[in-house]
Amino acid sequence: MCMNAKTPGLYIHVPFCLSKCSYCDFYSVSSISMLPAFLEALFKEMELYRGRFEPFDTVYVGGGTPSILNPGQVEAILTRVLKNFQLAPNPEITLEANPADLDRAYLESIRAMGINRLTIGVQSFDQAILDFLGRRHSVNQAISAIDASYRAGFANIGLDLIYGIPGQEMDAWLDTVRRALTFEPAHLSCYQLTVGPDTPLGIRYQQGAFSLPDENLQHEFFIKTAEMLEDAGYIHYEVSNFARDMTLTSRHNQKYWDHTPYLGLGPSAHSFLANQRWWNYRSVDRYITVLKSGKPPLEASEILTMEQLQLEALYLGLRTKKGIHLQDYATHYRCDLLTQKGDRLTKLQDEGLIAIEDGYLYPTRAGLAMADSLALI
Ligand code: SF4
Repeated sequence: MCMNAKTPGLYIHVPFCLSKCSYCDFYSVSSISMLPAFLEALFKEMELYRGRFEPFDTVYVGGGTPSILNPGQVEAILTRVLKNFQLAPNPEITLEANPADLDRAYLESIRAMGINRLTIGVQSFDQAILDFLGRRHSVNQAISAIDASYRAGFANIGLDLIYGIPGQEMDAWLDTVRRALTFEPAHLSCYQLTVGPDTPLGIRYQQGAFSLPDENLQHEFFIKTAEMLEDAGYIHYEVSNFARDMTLTSRHNQKYWDHTPYLGLGPSAHSFLANQRWWNYRSVDRYITVLKSGKPPLEASEILTMEQLQLEALYLGLRTKKGIHLQDYATHYRCDLLTQKGDRLTKLQDEGLIAIEDGYLYPTRAGLAMADSLALI
């Protein structure tokens, strides 16, 4: 398998959020008392992986809320990355940020250190929705943060938005998209709200306090969003992701979609190399304790069979506009899709959900809207 010829990416998970959003079941803790010990542990973990993946051409500092790190802490992370790993020329170095944390001085500092891409968790330009979601920032803070990011010299800025909020009218959502477009961001991620069952919002939902948009309405949100953004010139390059042009797609996230190797550091982070995947303990406490003893903080690992790799590649490839290169797929995964799934593919083509062209199998817009079931071909 020649999947390792692709340039790997480095993910660093910062598992702290100053407050918990009401819908979120990502792992993060709201007390930052463990932050110094976490950083020490992270630096130890980097040392354990020295030489195993290099060079990286992307570094993605995600979370959690990495923008709660002060500039000195961001610099310490980047310095240790450079000390322990090789970076390819012109790396993409992303930091996820909460608008409440961003002012011009902070942004200028982190940009000077080498952060060259920001993804800002705006979520909505409707204050009532931000309140419903329990977001820590306000609409005004989001606007100030985007302005400050441009003034600090960032050109590659992504905005994250959420749709499908209970009671949200289509026009209100499209108004949020329209307002996002006024900033001409390089990148937009539009996610459908998912409510974790054990979150405050999930519990209220189970008590019947509100209902979520039904499947038809969700579909309409998806299609209208794609239409509006494509009309504005954006490329819908993955189910939830849009870029102003193909040079502005998330280079890092694409590695997750085509089995490029990646190293994930920090609590709950996942890594992938060749046909192996492994992941760290979720608990920050345990992560720190295990690394203090000099061991990798591994919770588990798995070797993927060829059949699992085939299925994953199909599932992930059909979530992207580019789709699957049929010849490469046959070479890497020893499966000729046209021969083995020809009938089903013809049916999906007839239904307007996929197309086969220039050696690629790819989803249409209608196919992207139901990408999860396309992979069941
Ligand atoms: S949605 Fe993001 S900012 Fe909110 S609690 Fe979850 S990880 Fe933290």
